[in-house]
Amino acid sequence: MRYFYISVALLFTCIIPSCKQNTDSSTNEENETYNSIDTRVEVILSEMTLKEKIGQMTQFTITTFLQDSILEDYGNVTTFIVDTTKLTKLIRDWHIGSFLNGRAVSPENWVHVTSAVQRINAQYSSIPIIYGIDHMHGASYLKNGTIFPHNINIGCTFDTIYAYDASNTAVYETADLGHNWVFSPVLGIGKAKIWGRYYETFGEDPHLCGTMGVAAIHGIQDSSTTAPYKVAACAKHFIGYSDPKSGWDRTPAEIPTQALREFFLPPFKKAVDAGVKTIMINSGEVNGIPVHASYEILTTLLREELGFEGIAVTDWKDIKALSEMHFVAPTEKEATLMAINAGIDMSMVPEDTSFCVYLKELVDEGKITEERINQSVRRILKVKMELGLFEKVMPRTDRLNRINTEKSISKALNAARESIVLIKNDQHVLPLKNKKILLTGFTHDNKRALCGGWTYRFAADGDHWFPKGMLTVKDAIKQEFGEENIQTALDIAELKALSSSSDAIVIATGESEAYAETQGTIDDLTLDKHQITLIQEAVKTQKPVILILTEGRPRLIADVADDVDGILFAGLPGVYGAQAIAEILSGKVNPSGKMSFTYPKKSGHIIAYNHKRAEYSSMREVSDELKKHAIAPFGYGLSYASFTYTNLQMDTIITDKDQLLSVSVDVKNTSKTDGKEAVLWFISDEYASITRPVKELVHFDKKLIPAGESRTFTLTINPKEMLSFPDKNGNQLLEDGSFELRVGDISRRFWLKTN
Ligand code: BGC
Repeated sequence: MRYFYISVALLFTCIIPSCKQNTDSSTNEENETYNSIDTRVEVILSEMTLKEKIGQMTQFTITTFLQDSILEDYGNVTTFIVDTTKLTKLIRDWHIGSFLNGRAVSPENWVHVTSAVQRINAQYSSIPIIYGIDHMHGASYLKNGTIFPHNINIGCTFDTIYAYDASNTAVYETADLGHNWVFSPVLGIGKAKIWGRYYETFGEDPHLCGTMGVAAIHGIQDSSTTAPYKVAACAKHFIGYSDPKSGWDRTPAEIPTQALREFFLPPFKKAVDAGVKTIMINSGEVNGIPVHASYEILTTLLREELGFEGIAVTDWKDIKALSEMHFVAPTEKEATLMAINAGIDMSMVPEDTSFCVYLKELVDEGKITEERINQSVRRILKVKMELGLFEKVMPRTDRLNRINTEKSISKALNAARESIVLIKNDQHVLPLKNKKILLTGFTHDNKRALCGGWTYRFAADGDHWFPKGMLTVKDAIKQEFGEENIQTALDIAELKALSSSSDAIVIATGESEAYAETQGTIDDLTLDKHQITLIQEAVKTQKPVILILTEGRPRLIADVADDVDGILFAGLPGVYGAQAIAEILSGKVNPSGKMSFTYPKKSGHIIAYNHKRAEYSSMREVSDELKKHAIAPFGYGLSYASFTYTNLQMDTIITDKDQLLSVSVDVKNTSKTDGKEAVLWFISDEYASITRPVKELVHFDKKLIPAGESRTFTLTINPKEMLSFPDKNGNQLLEDGSFELRVGDISRRFWLKTN
């Protein structure tokens, strides 16, 4: 069998051109390549034993083949040592087709791991292993990898280049190291604000999440930068994961089908249309059905309706979870039957072989057909071939100079600069020119607070995991303003003592610990009460007070928000984030971020910007009410420049559903400061048969507008895409009537009149 594979692989390597690497080939060539891939897949599949097929559907974690000495203190591991006996056993006896996970070890150490995996595998199979890893915001599991801001910040940039840069830099730095599969981007819309994974989303708007997600997928799958390797992206977690009813990770979601289709589905649809090769499934339940057991979601919706042809991988231990967490199956074997019949292709097992045993028994007993197994294995082999793994799989160490280059650092720094949102700037307190600053707050000298989870570790338990040269807010402010102009206060007594010799008090606060998944579980969004007291004491000094919020979700600051003079939402801006914060404080950088989500004021009535009209009394007109109840609504963000929107040009009647309507607006920078402006176009549907959001983002675009100059921004209204909405069965409704277009502070009513 093994020798047959090798000969088949060699044969095809010689006579069939390897997978397409450039996008400029003709469609004919493309079809030929794909036909040849299909043919190769069928030849290989026809020679595989059932056990080998099941092995391809199985994914194991790295700890299952590391030396015991490493595992004794795995939390502190800094170098992996492969136990070749364990690895050989997994591959020889179980034909495991995929491995995952890791920590930020050196590139050489990664090559030790992945080359051992591929080398041992090649002794027993010609089907290469696909190695998956969580590079969530840059190359986050690589020592010295370039770390970008988390997605919640990337959303605030309103510029897709940063979603592309973050994911493309991750693969540019790690494709050579044998990382063929990146478990990113997260495409859930940021709904439950208290959720410990809120920061992994691109924000609360479906259009923003989908558009950023597509850019991230292109960044990962763009083989021109990783050649001769290719990497698969993974859109996750399909679907409804981001809105657990309790707010806690992996707890039940109840989402009406119409809302699921209207708000949660579009980012995944865009990802599938963009060619994402893999999708990871939501660990939780939606409307009483765990998603891993839902044929309706995994097959009817994902395969038949969206047309997804790639690999559907479970999340961590999620087949077991059907019997051990959700209790919809009495045994793990029944759970396996459910998940496979629902549409799962690969199980992230990830630590024992029970999945392989049960799946084989189920096929032997006739409960699962071998054709069903073939269907999944075909998809897996196809992705492996499309990635070119059959041709080139061994990692290399001759391009380690790709890691953390000046160019990558500058991309990450620019992303951070554009991702920070100036929420409040009373009396132009910022920028702080020639000022003596008193710095305090519990994140002012803390690296974890800038990077959050999934940075070098799953959740780093101390700053020692971060690069020595990384600046904290304190370091960066000292560097930017001069050490002699900065004093720091570690407690209220020091704050009081030092305030009189300062011109302004800067308080860096928010969340001080890195957390991931359930580690981020809290039961109160309110900012730590000691920090609130510290802020209140700072306000009492009568000095201007500026808050810098470094946090993965909006910690509530209602008790102090009105009393402070300035607020910067810095979110999780990454390793270069402190410099970006300091440059915004000094005015070297003009802030241009806008909120990717609505920052609530209080713990009650937490809603998104695209709420229904009835959320606020019975107001008919588009509501600005939210502004009063939020620290900053979605799309809000100040600049040191000022922009005016004029000359909105558009027809106001659309008579045909296929008619495209061109719109333009001029935006002038009326200040003396150059600035970037993100122009957000919203549409409101004024009457409809299903209640509509008060407004919905349909397009965004960001440009630099030099002082005194104007730029024209354009929008094309496509009625089928921008004016329609689904009913609960997925039928897209496009109803005649009046709509309102809003851009900046201007708006125009227009009509769809097709009858
Ligand atoms: C997370 C996924 C992640 C996977 C592998 C899971 O617990 O939910 O997002 O990709 O682990 O580390």
